[in-house]
Amino acid sequence: MICDVLIIGGGPAGLSAAIYASRAKFKTILLEKQGSGGLMALTDNIENYPGFDGGINGFELAVKMEAQARSFGAEIIFDEVIEIMDLGATKRVKTANREFESKAAIIAAGTSVKKTGMLGEDNFIGKGISFCAVCDAPFYRDKTVGVIGGGDSAVQEALYLAKFAKKVFLIHRRNSLRAAKFLQEKLFANEKITAVLNSVPIEIAGAQKVEKLKIRNVLSGEERFVDIDGLFIFIGMSPNSAIFSFLPLDANGYIVAGKNMETSVAGIFAAGDIRNKDLRQVSTAVSDGAVAAVSAERYIDSL
Ligand code: NAP
Repeated sequence: MICDVLIIGGGPAGLSAAIYASRAKFKTILLEKQGSGGLMALTDNIENYPGFDGGINGFELAVKMEAQARSFGAEIIFDEVIEIMDLGATKRVKTANREFESKAAIIAAGTSVKKTGMLGEDNFIGKGISFCAVCDAPFYRDKTVGVIGGGDSAVQEALYLAKFAKKVFLIHRRNSLRAAKFLQEKLFANEKITAVLNSVPIEIAGAQKVEKLKIRNVLSGEERFVDIDGLFIFIGMSPNSAIFSFLPLDANGYIVAGKNMETSVAGIFAAGDIRNKDLRQVSTAVSDGAVAAVSAERYIDSL
C-alpha cells in the first residue's frame, strides 16, 4: 500500500499525528500492533488532559481520538511493524504479511512496561502479577495486593486499587517517593494503603497463583514474606525502539529527535513517549504528534 504519511503506533502521539496529517489531506495510514490508545487506554482516569473537567477514562479518550482520525480519512490498520527502511524519497515499512510505502514516516511506537527481574516473576505474569490496575483491579475486591514502584504510575494505580482491595502495600526501593506531591498526599491519607519503603522484591511464590512476595530491606538486609493475592508492577517504561536502532538513540534507548520531531534521517520523525524528552504525558504526546505531522507535511511539500 502506498501513502503520503505512514504512522507507526496508535497511542495519543500517533493518533494526533493521524488527525493532523489526514485533515491536511495527506493520504495517511496508521499501523498499530494492538489497540488504539496504547498505554493511555489502560489508564482509569486522566485528570490532567485539558478539556475534561473531572478527568476522562483513557480508553474512552482513545476511542474518541481514533474516531476523529478516521473522520478526516486516516486509515487505521492493526498490524505489527517488523522493519522500516529508508530508501531516500520513499520509506518502506514491513509487517509480517504486508508492505507499505510512504513519503514520510512518523514513529510513535511508545514504551512498554519494565519487569523487576525477581525470582518467579515470569511464571506468575497473568497468574497474580499484573501491569494494569484498570484491567485487573476488580479481581482483587476485598483482597490484599502489593504494588511495586514509587513514581506517578505506582501511586496513582495504588490509589485505584484501594477502591477494590481491602489492603494495598506500596513497596518502594528508596526512602522517599518520586511521585508528584499531590499524589503522595492522597496516598498517605488513604487508610487502606501502607507504604513499605527501602524495600525491593526478590521473589514471588505461590502454588497456582501469587500467594506471597519476598522483600528485602535494602538498609538492614532483612528479608521477609508478605502475604498478597496479587502484585502490580509499575517501575517505569522502556522504549519500543529495537527495530529503530538505525536511528540515533540515547543511553536509555529513546529516539533522539529535534524540536520539530525530525530524526537524523530525512523524512522520518519521532513523536510521543519513544522520543527522548523530559515529560511523558498524554498532553505532550499529542503535541509531539501534531508537530511531527506538520513537519512531515512540510518535508513532503519540499520533495
Ligand atoms: P517512573 O517515574 O520512572 O518511576 C518508576 C519508579 O519505579 C521509581 O520510583 C523507581 O524508583 C522505581 N523503580 C525503577 N526500577 C526499579 C526496579 N528495578 N525495582 C524497584 N523499583 C524500581 O515511571 P512511571 O511512574 O511509570 O512514570 C513514567 C512517566 O509517566 C513519568 O514521566 C510520569 O510522570 C508519567 N506519569 C504521569 C502520571 C500523571 O501525571 N498522573 C501518571 C502516570 C505516569 P526510584 O524513584 O528510586 O528511581
